[in-house]
Amino acid sequence: MYTIKSNQVIYAMSAANVPVLEVPSGSEVVFETADCFQDQITKPTDLLTDIDWNHINPATGPLFVKEAKAGDTLKVSILDIEVADQGVMTSLPGEGALGKFLKEEQTRIIPVKDGKAQFSDTLIFDTRPMIGVIGTAPPLGTDISTGTPDMHGGNMDTKRIIAGSVLYLPVHVDGALLAMGDLHALMADGEVLFCGIEISGRVRVLVDVVKGIDLPLPLLVEGSDIMTIASSELLDDAALHAAHQMMELMLAHTSLGPEEAGMLLSVKGELRISQIVDPLKTARMEFPLELLEHYGFKLP
Ligand code: CA
Ligand code: CA
Repeated sequence: MYTIKSNQVIYAMSAANVPVLEVPSGSEVVFETADCFQDQITKPTDLLTDIDWNHINPATGPLFVKEAKAGDTLKVSILDIEVADQGVMTSLPGEGALGKFLKEEQTRIIPVKDGKAQFSDTLIFDTRPMIGVIGTAPPLGTDISTGTPDMHGGNMDTKRIIAGSVLYLPVHVDGALLAMGDLHALMADGEVLFCGIEISGRVRVLVDVVKGIDLPLPLLVEGSDIMTIASSELLDDAALHAAHQMMELMLAHTSLGPEEAGMLLSVKGELRISQIVDPLKTARMEFPLELLEHYGFKLP
């Protein structure tokens, strides 16, 4: 088993990053991850404005996958996500989608144990560990901060990127340069405050290079759904793009024509908001995988 430690991090997805590990396609790799504050907030008196902002959204990696060449697809099967025994949430006046309501900076430490998060003295929630930041290097010369989502993946904050899901990412440079971090013990669609229950942990993945298929990416499969994910400055554009990406997938990989595909998307496609608080907003179109398969789609 290969492991990448949580002190081997990047703050931008970039073709210029030096890989910290090289593995063949078909390998299992554990990424140990710090939380999005790089574990600088550990107690209620640690405030967001006190920490070093040069160490925000660290992504562990990058991983070089030997067979991956530009134009390929990297299939990342999320086998397991373990989270630490405490998470953190913070508020900051002016920040996030609710910033105008917030009066003070607060830090809440949230104990996490046996799949439960102790939100308050009286409230305990089931956790649903997910990956906030996961992506590959964008094309040479277009470095993207790990705080930003885009076509390469990145800070998508999509709550369905959980254990058991499979994420397809583009390969823009040899090796793909996969990196990830920003785990959440729990997060709801929208991530409106700007954080979930931020937490460190470890993610075990299986990486496979897929050649010779042109898919709209990033593409996610979780449960019975397949999802196109898109990010843009405006949520309207992200939503449209996610819907268009699913339409393109249907037209390119099934027997459906545009009219019937559109009808199906309008009755069985769920267009959802992943997050509205990052530099680009993220939307996704969810669609039943078995319906696509009914019309001839085969998952690589
Ligand atoms: Ca995030
Ligand atoms: Ca986060």
